[in-house]
Amino acid sequence: MFSFWEKKSFKKYDYIIVGAGITGLSTAASLVEKYPRAKIAVLERGFLPTGASTKNAGFACFGSLSEIASDLETMSETELTQLVESRLNGLEKLRNRLGDKKIGYKNYGGYELILDKQVPYLEKLEEINNLLQPIFEGQNVFKTKDGLIEGFGFNARYVRRIVYNRFEGQIHTGKMMKSLLKYVQKRGVTIFTGCEVIDFEDVENENTDKKNSVVVRIKNPLQNDLSENLAIELTASKVAICTNAFSKKLLPSLDLQAGRGQVLATKPLKYLRFKGTFHLDEGFYYFRNFGKRIILGGGRNMDFEGETTTKLETTELILEDLKSKLSEIIIPKQKFEIDTTWAGIMAFTESSKTKIPLLENHSKNVVLGVRLGGMGVALGSKLGEEIAQKMINEQ
Ligand SMILES: Cc1cc2nc3c(=O)[nH]c(=O)nc-3n(C[C@H](O)[C@H](O)[C@H](O)COP(=O)(O)OP(=O)(O)OC[C@H]3O[C@@H](n4cnc5c(N)ncnc54)[C@H](O)[C@@H]3O)c2cc1C
Repeated sequence: MFSFWEKKSFKKYDYIIVGAGITGLSTAASLVEKYPRAKIAVLERGFLPTGASTKNAGFACFGSLSEIASDLETMSETELTQLVESRLNGLEKLRNRLGDKKIGYKNYGGYELILDKQVPYLEKLEEINNLLQPIFEGQNVFKTKDGLIEGFGFNARYVRRIVYNRFEGQIHTGKMMKSLLKYVQKRGVTIFTGCEVIDFEDVENENTDKKNSVVVRIKNPLQNDLSENLAIELTASKVAICTNAFSKKLLPSLDLQAGRGQVLATKPLKYLRFKGTFHLDEGFYYFRNFGKRIILGGGRNMDFEGETTTKLETTELILEDLKSKLSEIIIPKQKFEIDTTWAGIMAFTESSKTKIPLLENHSKNVVLGVRLGGMGVALGSKLGEEIAQKMINEQ
């Protein structure tokens, strides 16, 4: 039940965005940049954004050699180059919007560790460089740097070659999300946390005072204390659904599948001989330095079925696998201790192998921008801009 004052100040918005991950916040940023006086609310179910955006590894990347080569088996050259370009544009937008210092951007470069299985991908190096040249102003993206295997201290029994990409960087994920939250809040966007949207209705035609608006219903956190079922209803002219891996709860028929990613961070090591972001085993594993720590994630390939879940939990199986990658391949001569472990949830397609996000009008006043896969740090700002544009275009 809203009071007179609440109705006047909190109930009606021009734009409501569901989900405060990088996509939702970037959508809010693009809208408020264009319409500084618009009433914009972001509704987030968690105390913090609770999906992938605060849980990722902070690679500012657009695809490793083997990932791009294997994507070319399922996507056309045009689709793939457009996707790589969108990732690049997204990264540029994020850096320009927030500033490198505020997101902890470091240009240490990216590397791919080539194991026996990936050696054939090296034959594609020149072809892929040629394909990407128009996006990178005529420059080659990938080159081999095998001398680094020993220099970085990797186990040469497993690591056959190293491919270097000087265009890849890394960010401090926590700083980036904190800055993005601050950026939109400073410009007047209201963020409601602990606010789970349970459903919404696009009232396109009904002849009521709600005509041409969207009613968004939120779970009332006080509901258990009350005898009536009181979902909170807000309204907006336009709504964006940016709930990524959790979207099926709102829209069960979407072509979307959740994929959990588990991560560990070591305590600072005595010696760490590398800096940068590293891809291993066709992107199934990824690690980076953070100061003298290693942050390592991946291993979904150990248990695809079990990892098709939205549960934010780690498992013994995958964490043990990650630890063995550290001791066998990455830092074979060093003892390490684990500081923290965690999980985050990504979204992929269920029916195909495309990595292109899902951006569409769900109905006249509701835009959907989800399914960012494993490179949403790069894509999020660009997708947010496109979602905002779609919301504006429909007016
Ligand atoms: C372990 C891991 C490592 C990764 N590493 C990288 C990397 O190094 N580089 C990279 O580019 N990408 C990486 N990614 C992918 C990237 O983090 C994601 O693609 C990106 O963060 C997706 O952003 P999003 O805003 O679309 O989704 P999310 O960040 O998941 O945001 C969706 C938000 O919606 C909220 N929500 C869901 N349902 C509701 C509801 N009903 N009501 C209200 N709120 C709701 C959720 O709580 C969540 O905060 C990684 C992902 C994971 C999981």
